[in-house]
Amino acid sequence: RAKVEGRGTYRFFEAAMGAEVKERRLIEHDLLHAVSRGELRLAYQPQKQLTSGAVIGFEALLRWQHATRGVISPDAFIPIAEESGLILQIGEWVLRTACREAATWQRPLVMAVNVSAVQLHSAQFAQLVHEVLFQTGLSPKRLELEITETALIRDKNRALATLRQLKSLGVRIAMDDFGTGYSSLSNLRAFPFDKIKIDASFIRSVDTSDEAAAIVRAVLGLGRGLGLPVLAEGVETAGELAFLAAELCHEGQGYLLGRPCPIESYEALVAASGGKPVAAAARRS
Ligand code: C2E
Ligand code: MG
Ligand code: MG
Ligand code: MG
Repeated sequence: RAKVEGRGTYRFFEAAMGAEVKERRLIEHDLLHAVSRGELRLAYQPQKQLTSGAVIGFEALLRWQHATRGVISPDAFIPIAEESGLILQIGEWVLRTACREAATWQRPLVMAVNVSAVQLHSAQFAQLVHEVLFQTGLSPKRLELEITETALIRDKNRALATLRQLKSLGVRIAMDDFGTGYSSLSNLRAFPFDKIKIDASFIRSVDTSDEAAAIVRAVLGLGRGLGLPVLAEGVETAGELAFLAAELCHEGQGYLLGRPCPIESYEALVAASGGKPVAAAARRS
């Protein structure tokens, strides 16, 4: 009897898994043509200095405008792109497009680009970055590569060698989603980061939760001790912003400060938001 049940359960999982695998194959198949069909877009979200409210840069965020499914979020297709290796082609497109865009900007703003573990561990990644900078004419110090801790753990020596090559080009490196990885503190020490981005999950209710406040204060202290600027991700409310400003957090990013948008609407935003004090932004909502 146990055997029969076991087999039935197996068949049930097999059917459920079959549907998921099929879905992944469909996405993978469509993704194969997404770049050549021009279905990928970048949205740019501002990163602001909290003392002045000035825009210091933008993060490029990938969007897939699928022919029939509408806009697909990166969380839904990047893991598939990573498994199939397509992320190399997609990531190169992102890097080129973001650098080309930033090179046209009148002000020397930073362009932050997310880098997947697969890209970081691919052969000649630093060489690719070097080429793209050369071809687009973007100054290396205006490119910031955002790397999560999970991207570092696969092969630490290789990751370290690549990060050092990137640093020697003059490119900046930010640790993305800080606090959500396996060993944030040792990674901070072992790798040459220029910035800490505190994950949005710690910013959420930082003004109302003692635990969240204690963690954010500790990360800010860590940043001061290491001489690294700290950026708060996912700032949504005036209360969160007021807390961060009072605790002398350097930079912020989030829906309150600006949503990810196609670049057209950002020329205006950059012009309008330069030098605006943080207190005014907090009062607005
Ligand atoms: P991330 O790099 O941590 O990017 C921040 C995410 O938070 C973005 O989601 C952004 O739209 C969202 N966000 C910003 N402000 C707020 C806020 O105030 N509240 C909330 N709830 N969310 C906010 P998105 O664009 O869906 O991207 C998700 C993740 O996908 C990114 O997380 C990044 O890990 C990855 N990703 C995006 N673009 C790329 C890319 O070009 N290459 C690679 N490898 N990964 C990418
Ligand atoms: Mg990021
Ligand atoms: Mg993040
Ligand atoms: Mg993330």
